[in-house]
Amino acid sequence: MENYAREYDLPPEDEAWRLAAAQFAGAVLAPLVRDADREGRFSHDVVGRLGAAGLIDPAGASLLARCLIAEEIGAVDGSTRGFLAVQAGLVLAPIKTFAPAALREAWADRLAAGTAIGACALTEPEAGSDLGGMRTTIRADGEDVVIDGQKVWITNGGVADVLLVFGQTDAALRTRGLECYLVPSDTPGITREPMPGKELGHRASDHAQLRFEGVRVPRANRIGEACKGFDVAMHGLEDGRLNVAAGALGIHRACLQASIAFARSRRQFGKRIGDFQQVGATLADMDTELRAARLLVHHAARLQDRGLDNAHAVSAAKLYATEAALKAATNAIQLHGSRAYSDELPLERHWRDVIALTIYEGTSNIQRVILARSLLGKDQGKSDGGN
Ligand SMILES: Cc1cc2nc3c(=O)[nH]c(=O)nc-3n(C[C@H](O)[C@H](O)[C@H](O)COP(=O)(O)OP(=O)(O)OC[C@H]3O[C@@H](n4cnc5c(N)ncnc54)[C@H](O)[C@@H]3O)c2cc1C
Repeated sequence: MENYAREYDLPPEDEAWRLAAAQFAGAVLAPLVRDADREGRFSHDVVGRLGAAGLIDPAGASLLARCLIAEEIGAVDGSTRGFLAVQAGLVLAPIKTFAPAALREAWADRLAAGTAIGACALTEPEAGSDLGGMRTTIRADGEDVVIDGQKVWITNGGVADVLLVFGQTDAALRTRGLECYLVPSDTPGITREPMPGKELGHRASDHAQLRFEGVRVPRANRIGEACKGFDVAMHGLEDGRLNVAAGALGIHRACLQASIAFARSRRQFGKRIGDFQQVGATLADMDTELRAARLLVHHAARLQDRGLDNAHAVSAAKLYATEAALKAATNAIQLHGSRAYSDELPLERHWRDVIALTIYEGTSNIQRVILARSLLGKDQGKSDGGN
């Protein structure tokens, strides 16, 4: 991008955050990223340095600035960008918005500084997209609640100091029965294990399965109101989803820039491969789709920065930006031929990482469900007993 700030009309304070994140990504992440991916190594040091640089909870930053940070980090290191989406979007944002003062004071600053790590436990073996189908139970017992159940694919789950755990107070109520509790990870009754198997991507992230057996926490640890856990989840997911969409821009951009450079330098049949029409057209599509995705992400961020509802715009941005980035990563590998087929280049890592962006924080299909519902509204004429 020749002049990002001018082309996308960024205010100077947002541009300053973007440059700070780009500097961090280049200086701290780039030298580590390939080995961390190869070795599947989560780095506490990187978390502390992200916090010290103010990038976990950028003080006074607009949502647009936070998207720019995610794009810059995402362009270099998908695992660290994924960490950021969870720590800032799924954990810190709900704590700052919904937690009682005592819990906020105990955890918010530490999470922002990267001296504590958070995880958000929604997904279960039998309940992924269908949050109302959760089987983890939350039972009141005097001044406490008791949590029993199992969670899977929890990012940071094995390294977190604090967990936001969602469960069901009454299965018949589905999403209207969900509650969320803040649970320190050393609470008795919690078992944490790495997810079985080696992940396709995000290999420098920590992914755990968690078991809760008679886990007791004070009722005062509830995040949000009674039976309003679904609202807490949606609040966190909207924040996290836009971070994911912005991270996809980073991957898309990295794939495009590498492809342009290669198409200029690689010669076959006596000319630059970029001068073959099919190759040039692929680059043109990659560039156009990146610009479209970026405008969707910026639009969704700017709506919220202006105090307007952005739920529809966030889903549209997440759907389009992640699918476009997946296509761009596939095209970049094709365009580089055999040399992209090993981790000498970062392209195969981008491709492995980007697939998860179309799955977590609501799959592409689920974004389409949200968008279609928002477009159609409630069926006012429903009177035939259908459901
Ligand atoms: C790298 C990674 C990190 C993750 N981190 C976390 C985390 O930190 N915390 C957490 O709680 N979870 C996390 N997850 C889990 C993730 O949120 C879920 O995988 C996701 O919500 C989808 O659930 P599922 O995998 O059970 O798929 P399912 O819900 O079983 O879906 C399977 C398929 O059916 C489709 N489908 C389902 N319902 C519908 C519908 N109504 N209409 C159309 N299609 C539908 C889906 O789109 C999908 O293609 C992570 C996952 C990955 C891969």
